[in-house]
Amino acid sequence: MYHAKPIVILMGPPGSGKGTQAKHLAALYKWKHLSTGDLLRALLQAKNPDLEEFKEAQNSTAEGRLSADWLIFRLAFRAIKKALETHGGVVLDGAIRNVSQAAEFEKFFREEQLWEQVRALYLDVNEEELIRRISSRRVCESCAAIYPERVNSDICPACGGKLIQRVDDSPEVVRARFITQGISAQQPVIDFFTQKNILRIIEADALEDVVFRRIQEALE
Ligand SMILES: [Zn+2]
Repeated sequence: MYHAKPIVILMGPPGSGKGTQAKHLAALYKWKHLSTGDLLRALLQAKNPDLEEFKEAQNSTAEGRLSADWLIFRLAFRAIKKALETHGGVVLDGAIRNVSQAAEFEKFFREEQLWEQVRALYLDVNEEELIRRISSRRVCESCAAIYPERVNSDICPACGGKLIQRVDDSPEVVRARFITQGISAQQPVIDFFTQKNILRIIEADALEDVVFRRIQEALE
């Protein structure tokens, strides 16, 4: 596919299947799947973490805010370098949310002479359709089973428990999530990578394996 080890930046709104597709890529090509969420959790569980880093990870988690950029950069850059020594490539999931972060990543890749290996993919989904799908989801109060589409009763077919909608799945909350993480929020980053000629948009309103094939084709 490439002469050098690829670094794939995978982007997309919540519910676009980006985490799942990152796992598929990592499994098929023996790449390292790096998600900032996982890097932060690993830092919080490390035996001898850097104190400054640990404090910021702990505070941001406790306050329910995003971690400071400097921490994300340090964790991601370190992990990318390490992963390129041990794996055939890297797939980055959820690391870049705005243009200033994208520019910082570009600077790092250029300094490390890795820029030629970088590709960005945006999983594009119909947001109204996704909001409808997520907000029709029901969960069982008793056994926590999740039912993707509205079932014809309020009773869990598995255990007889009551089916409810999670607060996180209500149309208002899902819509709010799209305002901060959807395509309109991501557009400046999409434009940034498009101008650099490294971004492909993947039409992701399709079955998981169809989307995965499109991703593979885009990377060829
Ligand atoms: Zn149940």
